[in-house]
Amino acid sequence: MKRCIACGAPLSAEPLLTIENMPAAAQHLPRPEDAATERGVTLRLCACTGCGLTQLDTEPVSYYRDVIRSGGYSETMDKLRRAQYDAWIPAFHLEGKKILEAGCGQGEFLSILAAYPVKAYGMEHFHELVVKAREKGLTVAEEYPEREDQVFENGPFDAFTSFNFLEHQPDPAAYLRAIANNLTAGGAGLVTVPSFEYILEENSFYEFIPDHLSYFTEDSLSSLLNRCGFDVLKKERVNRDTISVWIKKKARPDVSGLIEKQKSIARDITGLVNEAAARGKVAIWGASHQGFSIAASLGLGDKICYIIDSAPFKQGHIAPSSHIPIVSPDAAAADPATCILIVAPGYTEEIAARICEKFPAGTEIWTLRSDVPERLTDRREA
Ligand SMILES: [Zn+2]
Repeated sequence: MKRCIACGAPLSAEPLLTIENMPAAAQHLPRPEDAATERGVTLRLCACTGCGLTQLDTEPVSYYRDVIRSGGYSETMDKLRRAQYDAWIPAFHLEGKKILEAGCGQGEFLSILAAYPVKAYGMEHFHELVVKAREKGLTVAEEYPEREDQVFENGPFDAFTSFNFLEHQPDPAAYLRAIANNLTAGGAGLVTVPSFEYILEENSFYEFIPDHLSYFTEDSLSSLLNRCGFDVLKKERVNRDTISVWIKKKARPDVSGLIEKQKSIARDITGLVNEAAARGKVAIWGASHQGFSIAASLGLGDKICYIIDSAPFKQGHIAPSSHIPIVSPDAAAADPATCILIVAPGYTEEIAARICEKFPAGTEIWTLRSDVPERLTDRREA
């Protein structure tokens, strides 16, 4: 069973399309003396049953790390890149920032970028192309985004570009994660790939080539980028046959509030329980994960007489870690606590009403339903 190069899920058992006698590669063309041995290949286009990426199930070409472009000047590409840089650089405030082109070839597009008020860097695996790019005065590392733990020369970068290179990658997720790990927080990206939607619109079987392993739609490209640490902010079709996306490195969730409140909740609850325990018995109502966590993490095992819960299957057990006994409301009422802390967000009012029914007047009722314990008024006193 073959697996998806982007997510590892199985590929569909039957190929979507099989094409015989296709060229084995689009670069490093054979010479006349190779004619006796050089042969066509069979291409099978398959769909991933997980992420949906359409892909060839063939081995990558030997030179997939290299970015071999025609090298000649094309007015169409020149205009397109300028239009893309004109919009993208100000949108992400990249003036003065470090931008990496992953797979820059001999610097065809990097030299255009270098004329903008940014710090332009290139990365290219093919030595001859690196030499040519450096001869143009460009700063280019001889490298390839291979592994997630790779530390790039000249990094970290504030942004990156990748022009029609991702579809060549036998491990596109490792390629993207390696780049993401060499970007600063919130780093931006401008990525283009050939559009599979375009091939479907034109019914152009002759677009398939072993150099291109992945055939991205806007959806399957976004899905891959999301799984590799990026948010997709804009996607569009450019030059008829190309998907272009603006992406941004995902921010890690900000848990500073959680860390801060963990301390204040611990202080407040410990203070409340210690004071109440000096006056009488203290109980918790609610034998679920919130109450268990409070009792265990604050070390309240010897301060809480029991945890009350109306679910019969919990009664007779003890709370994990704190080992406080779990009892029924009736058993608790027979040996009443003088202070009850309700830890069952969502059921607080219902439980407070039951306490008023079953427990003596004057029972102190507290609840924790946000980050501060609240004293509830006994209805009988109101
Ligand atoms: Zn997949």
